[in-house]
Amino acid sequence: IKIENLEKVYKTEEVETTALNGINLHVREGEFVSIMGPSGCGKSTLLNVMGLLDKPESGSYKFIDTELLTLNDRERSNFRKRNMGFVFQNFNLIDELTVFENIELPLIYNKIPAGERKQLVNEIIERMNIVNRSGHFPQQLSGGQQQRVAVARALVTKPKLVLADEPTGNLDSSHGNEVMELLCELNETGTTIVMVTHSSHDASFSNRIINLKDGHVISEKINKSRNEEL
Ligand code: ADP
Ligand code: ADP
Repeated sequence: IKIENLEKVYKTEEVETTALNGINLHVREGEFVSIMGPSGCGKSTLLNVMGLLDKPESGSYKFIDTELLTLNDRERSNFRKRNMGFVFQNFNLIDELTVFENIELPLIYNKIPAGERKQLVNEIIERMNIVNRSGHFPQQLSGGQQQRVAVARALVTKPKLVLADEPTGNLDSSHGNEVMELLCELNETGTTIVMVTHSSHDASFSNRIINLKDGHVISEKINKSRNEEL
């Protein structure tokens, strides 16, 4: 990923807020990067732009060789569905759907045939250790299990990039660690991860920590203990 001079301004009737003020950020394929910084520094905005959920005013965002900011709406949405997975703080599972159906949803969006969907969902359910929860509804699960389902849903399409916004924010520390270990395993299979976090413990699982302030990168730190293979 090559992000150059990204600017994002929110305009309301009274005020203009510069949320991203010239962000430059390169992420290598297979890297696990944490984004940290005080509340309001632009972390969520950056993640939303990277996830093609929000459009910046200017700048460049290259993913392998594709410039993503000039894609039209349909191309953006296709690119997102094929290449990206999302994990949110509040899980964002659909309460009316079972665990199986929640995980299956991105495959339906990608028009994968039913037989193949079933196989892919069952594979990931096994990998996430939630086999006996397949027919349950989200409200019947603990927070840790819900986040495992959310991680499974993010992974079932085998995305190149996973974007995680405070993935352990609503979990106690032991369930939080389980989710971080899942993200690490996923990263070890080659998936690039960009995670926003307030937790330096969670950030310690990543290869590199980027610090934002007032909409730009002020510093970065390589995590030596997690970089032997890079
Ligand atoms: P963080 O995730 O680091 O807390 P955000 O990206 O949410 O920061 O916000 C960056 C800045 O943009 C803040 O000043 C915030 O108030 C502002 N902002 C975020 N979203 C909106 C919005 N939809 N409308 C107006 N201002 C916004
Ligand atoms: P926060 O960490 O700031 O409480 P969330 O983790 O709930 O925020 O969500 C992060 C951002 O992703 C928000 O801007 C939200 O609008 C957006 N978002 C949340 N859920 C979805 C979804 N299912 N699809 C697309 N965008 C979403």
